[in-house]
Formats: sequence, structure tokens, C-alpha cells
Amino acid sequence: MRIRHRLSAAAALGALLAHAAAQAQSGAVPVLVYHRFGATAADSMTIRTSHFEAQLRYLALHGYTVIPLRRLVEHLAGGGDPLPPRAVVITVDDGHQSVWSELRPLVLRYRVPVTLFIYPSAISNAAYALTWQQVRALRASGWFDIESHTFWHPDFRQERRRLAPDAYRKLLRQQLLGSRLRLQQMVGGDVTLLAWPYGIVDQDLMRAAADAGYRAAFTLAAHPATPADAPLALPRYLIGDACTEAAYARLLEQASHPRAPDAPPR
Ligand SMILES: [Zn+2]
Repeated sequence: MRIRHRLSAAAALGALLAHAAAQAQSGAVPVLVYHRFGATAADSMTIRTSHFEAQLRYLALHGYTVIPLRRLVEHLAGGGDPLPPRAVVITVDDGHQSVWSELRPLVLRYRVPVTLFIYPSAISNAAYALTWQQVRALRASGWFDIESHTFWHPDFRQERRRLAPDAYRKLLRQQLLGSRLRLQQMVGGDVTLLAWPYGIVDQDLMRAAADAGYRAAFTLAAHPATPADAPLALPRYLIGDACTEAAYARLLEQASHPRAPDAPPR
């Protein structure tokens, strides 16, 4: 009986190591994207703050480690230290006021790194948006990385239909390079990551982003990021209030325990 116990413990350990090895090999990491936080979820882009906090608790309780997006980008490019098992990334798009009022207190309490993708035209301008002072304070806290979401969040598909080729090229440069330079000037640091507005991306846009100095860019294709993905079109999971705990758990589980190529389907 004791021997059988020992054998099954060894088998369990073996399975665990195989899992860890599969993850290390695949390098698959889920990147989550949120937008707004609030007491109620008035629209599909808002998550209740209490619901978001429950997700942070879930991560902590189930052995997940939230890593900075930059660390994942480094890893996908083949550099940096190995990632911890069950690595997850949190990003937040658009620079809404609730980042300051709702998200910031939780980030400081749970000590999780977050990447904000913001578009400079709204900051200290639109009533719903953060101010430059707030953006700088978020960065100074050490928990927030500030990156680009273009200059004013255009719909590139629409703009390409609307504009002559030269005017479209000019718009791309202004939106991609212009945003980087403005953020670097107003906030500091090196801005080299980009979130595509509405997740819209094509080969042309990827080339323009590379020309403008971006190392990595993110879409809304819902699967874990792996080294096989194009660096300028890395996937993210859009998370809203409708994401139940079961769906959240499933998403994380599938991302961190990818099926080995020779394993039967499950
Ligand atoms: Zn956006």
C-alpha cells in the first residue's frame, strides 16, 4: 500500500513536471485587457470593481503570477529570465477616469503590475479621461507602465477607405509615431508597445508600427500569446463584466496548460 502511494506520488510529480515543461516550451501566456471599472456595469466595456477584485483574488489563490507586459514581450523575443509558472498579464485600454478612482487602489493593494494603453488626445482633455498629472502619478507608483493606443484612437479600416493613399500614410505616421513621442514627452520612459484600436491590424499597419519604433503590438484575438504569434499582432482576451468566474478559470487554465501536440483532445 505504501509502495503504491509512493508510486502514485511519483506519477503525480511526473505529470506536474510534464505540465510545467509543456508550458515552458509553449511559452503560452494569457494577456487580459480591461477598459472601465465601476460600481455597476453600465455597458459591455465596464466591469464591476468588485468583480475585478474577485478576479485578482482568484489569481492569488490559484498560484498565478501577474507579470509586466514588457517582461512577456522580452520572453517572446527569446530573452529575459524564465517566466514563473502560471504567468498572466493585465492591460487596460483607453485611460478612463475609473483607472484612477477604481483600479489604482486595487493595484496598490494586490501589488500587480498593469500596462495602460492610452491615446494622448483624450488625456487632460475629454471629461471621461485621466489627466497627465494622474498618468504621471500612476507611472511613479512603479505599478503602471504607460504605453501607446495611437494618438486619437482612429478606426484604421474606415480611414483607409476614406483617405487617399498618401493621406492615409501620413495619418499612420501621426497616429503611431506621434503618440509615442507625445507620451514620452509628457510622461517619460521609452514607449515601444502599442494596442491597436478596436484590435484592427493588417500587414500594412504592422509595417507602419515597426517603422514608428514599436517592438510589440496587441489585438483582441482571444488566445494566449506564444512565440509563434507575430510580435506586432499579439493576442489579448477582452474581459468584461459578463466573464463569469467559471469562464475566467477556464480561460486561464487553457492558456497555462496547453495541450501537448501528441495528447488526445479534451
Ligand atoms: Zn481602445
